[in-house]
Amino acid sequence: MDSDHSARQSVSERLRRHGITPTHQRMVIAQVLFERMEHLSAEQILLLVNERHAEASKATVYNTLRLFREKNLVRELVIDPSKVVYDPNTAPHHHIYNVETGELADIPADSIHVAGLPALPPELETERVDVIVRTRARRSGAKSSGHSAE
Ligand SMILES: [Zn+2]
Repeated sequence: MDSDHSARQSVSERLRRHGITPTHQRMVIAQVLFERMEHLSAEQILLLVNERHAEASKATVYNTLRLFREKNLVRELVIDPSKVVYDPNTAPHHHIYNVETGELADIPADSIHVAGLPALPPELETERVDVIVRTRARRSGAKSSGHSAE
């Protein structure tokens, strides 16, 4: 049972491939992201990292996530200004988000086709098109659910 060791090795190789020096804390942060392949917020990552006794500060986690994003190891996904998550899947894909439950899942890139993109000035090219499909429970008729946040 050497899977833990080989998992660690593949994480350090992955960091190196992206031009990131694999320090202990970067390794733990990357392991948290790539073992789960989930969309996690910086706060969730901080909690999970410290569960592993990495004793990373909030600043270290935020700085590391910024580095990972700059090196295209992860994608930053801004759902709204109060909800930013890190996506270990950097291949093209879209997302479906439940605004009521906060549930977020991937949609394969080829299942959505965006038509009518505007013509771009010659000096610009499209980097990518991200779609977030925002859902909520169907409201039957005019029935109010009576939910109120405050
Ligand atoms: Zn995703």
